[in-house]
Amino acid sequence: MGQAGLQEIFSSIQGEGVYVGQRQIFVRFNACHLHCQYCDAPQRPAHEPCRVESNSGEGQDVLLNNPVSAELLIQWIKQLHQQYKHHSISFTGGEPLLYTFYLKEILPPIQSLLPVYLETSGTQPDLYVEIEPWVDIIAMDIKLPSATGEACRIEAHQAFYALAREKECFIKLVVAETTSTDELDWVKQIVPDRDCPIIIQPVTDLKTGANTVSAKALFYMEQHLRQTYQDVRVIPQTHKMLSLL
Ligand code: SF4
Repeated sequence: MGQAGLQEIFSSIQGEGVYVGQRQIFVRFNACHLHCQYCDAPQRPAHEPCRVESNSGEGQDVLLNNPVSAELLIQWIKQLHQQYKHHSISFTGGEPLLYTFYLKEILPPIQSLLPVYLETSGTQPDLYVEIEPWVDIIAMDIKLPSATGEACRIEAHQAFYALAREKECFIKLVVAETTSTDELDWVKQIVPDRDCPIIIQPVTDLKTGANTVSAKALFYMEQHLRQTYQDVRVIPQTHKMLSLL
């Protein structure tokens, strides 16, 4: 079976997006092709072990040598699934789509246990198609340069959304105080469906965990997007308020 570099495996509460507050199993991959300046899960050295929180909230960690085999990951997922009841299983990162060779082994047996929730930068449609049959819910980012410090990938996002809209999908926009109207208008070029949920998530300060975007800016962005979309919500990273993983 395949192997992959993982950062963490744990059971916790989803802190972002439309499923905020739902209990999930999380599998956090270790690499990403992007370098968002707000990233709170930057790539670690490959030799660092994968942390498994075997009892939620008790800080009892088991360390697994990296890379972790698909067989071992499936064992841990099944154990957490037996210990706690969950809404779904979140594959997050890093960018999970860098590991489609591995996910193709993991997802078929796991999807029979729990719905598969994919958290992705939404920039790699060619990789997504390899695992599309086993994905149930997609939390798709649209990366805005004012927050990421990188260029916007409008065409890649367009191609990704054209596939993602066949599933249950919502958009997460991480925004900064400087996010512009032009950037918000790119969303309209990428997401033609007016009923697609749009989640505005203010950048969190990496040191303090505090929101960094003013109320005035958030109200403006929310109202601007609401002119186009039926379901626009402002949701900060709530797991950080609760000191959860
Ligand atoms: S896409 Fe996600 S994991 Fe990758 S750099 Fe950006 S925030 Fe970090």
